[in-house]
Amino acid sequence: RAKHSGKNTYRFFDDSMDESMQRRVSIQRNLEQALTDPEQLMLYYQPQIDSQTGAAYGAEVLLRWYRQGEWISPALFIPIAEDSGQIVELGRWIIDTALRQLADWRSRHVQVGKLSINLSAVQLSNSDVALELITTMKRYGIPYNAVAVEFTETTLMVRSAQLERNLQTLRQHNISIAIDDFGTGYCSLSYLRELEANYLKIDQSFIRGIGVNESDEHIISATIAMAKGLRMKVIAEGVETENQISYLTNLDCEYLQGFGFARPMSAANLESWLAQDRHTQTLLGGHAVKT
Ligand code: C2E
Ligand code: MG
Ligand code: MG
Ligand code: MG
Repeated sequence: RAKHSGKNTYRFFDDSMDESMQRRVSIQRNLEQALTDPEQLMLYYQPQIDSQTGAAYGAEVLLRWYRQGEWISPALFIPIAEDSGQIVELGRWIIDTALRQLADWRSRHVQVGKLSINLSAVQLSNSDVALELITTMKRYGIPYNAVAVEFTETTLMVRSAQLERNLQTLRQHNISIAIDDFGTGYCSLSYLRELEANYLKIDQSFIRGIGVNESDEHIISATIAMAKGLRMKVIAEGVETENQISYLTNLDCEYLQGFGFARPMSAANLESWLAQDRHTQTLLGGHAVKT
């Protein structure tokens, strides 16, 4: 299309490439600094709710970066850190920080449940991330069933020896595996069965279609049925509305995560959120809770 739309288009295109290139390089440089000055980096935690009881089941660890006075979205900088390989070192910081936090919570009997850590394809294919995770868990005295890892289907597309080694190590230690953004990536169902993942996380794009788009609803109910057959649990992501909550609970979707319950929050805020305990009762109350 650009070919026919004249010189201005070319110029615009070049400028914007330039800008995104500069942005990329500056993010990589700033990330380098952030890794030596972890004041800029912070972990947030988003609760996951058991749809049967309304109780907190676990929390997903989500990285936050305060860069030059503003929050920058992980959706923007994680892919850049993956391209540059910085995700490996960043990932080590995330694992260490999350597990240190978990050890602290456990020592004070804060019931956060299972902590779920995102792993990128680069970590799984280019580093000993599973061994590092296990070593860190041992160091902090955390049992293997207190942690899950999540990664997308697309991670599994290239089955390198290193990836297989990491998956093998996770399985040997019974660390739960969750498939993130399920339904949006590329992975054969037979490989998924072979992998023996413990959780499927239905992508939020499907959840948004509840009550709006029948095909999204079919995908959700089929995913839940398949997961049951394969003895996997389902976590719905991006749950925001009452209608979505009751729809998913009626289909027996085991776990719910989304702004409708809680946004990702700091460790301190998660503690007070857990101490309150009202919120989910209110949201699930009436229609949803089975006793
Ligand atoms: P993800 O792992 O699929 O994480 C879920 C994203 O959905 C999070 O965005 C979360 O804040 C957002 N979310 C949760 N509930 C709702 C909701 O009800 N509505 C809406 N609109 N959004 C909701 P976030 O924190 O911006 O992270 C974006 C992505 O960045 C993550 O997607 C993950 O792929 C990546 N990421 C974040 N933290 C890490 C990390 O520690 N390591 C790695 N490798 N990737 C990370
Ligand atoms: Mg995730
Ligand atoms: Mg997700
Ligand atoms: Mg995602």
